[in-house]
Amino acid sequence: MSEVVIDLPVLDPDSKPFWESCRRHEMALQRCAACGQFRFPPRVTCPHCLSEEYTWTPVRGRGTVYTFVTFHHVYHKAWADKAPYNVSMIELEEGPRLWSNVVGIAPEEVTVGMPVEIFYEDVTDEVALPKFRPAGR
Ligand SMILES: [Zn+2]
Repeated sequence: MSEVVIDLPVLDPDSKPFWESCRRHEMALQRCAACGQFRFPPRVTCPHCLSEEYTWTPVRGRGTVYTFVTFHHVYHKAWADKAPYNVSMIELEEGPRLWSNVVGIAPEEVTVGMPVEIFYEDVTDEVALPKFRPAGR
C-alpha cells in the first residue's frame, strides 16, 4: 500500500531561496533594495517601484488572518483525515500575503484579523511548509 502524499512545491530558480529559507525554519522574502518593500510570491521586479534589486530578508513570522475558507469536502485523498480544515490567507506584518493553514484550533474558531505566528511542518528532507497557529498559544 502506498502512502498518499500532498503535492509538494516545485522549486524553480525564483522560488528556491524562499523554500530553502522555510527548510531552515526562518522564512525570508525578497525585499526591494530600492524602496524597501517586501514582496511575495518571488518575482524579478518590485511591484511597487519596478527595481530588479533585492535581498532575501528574514521576516518575523507574525501576521493576521486576512481571509479564510473552511473545506469540508475532500478534494484530495491526502486531506481526508484533516477535513474540515481551513485555508487561510495570512497577511504578514511586513506586508505580503500568503496562503497557508491555521492549525491547532477548530476551523470555526478562525476569524478575520486573528493574530497568528508561523511554525514549520517538515514534509520531506527538502521541503518544510510554513503553517500558522494563533499567536501566544
Ligand atoms: Zn521597490
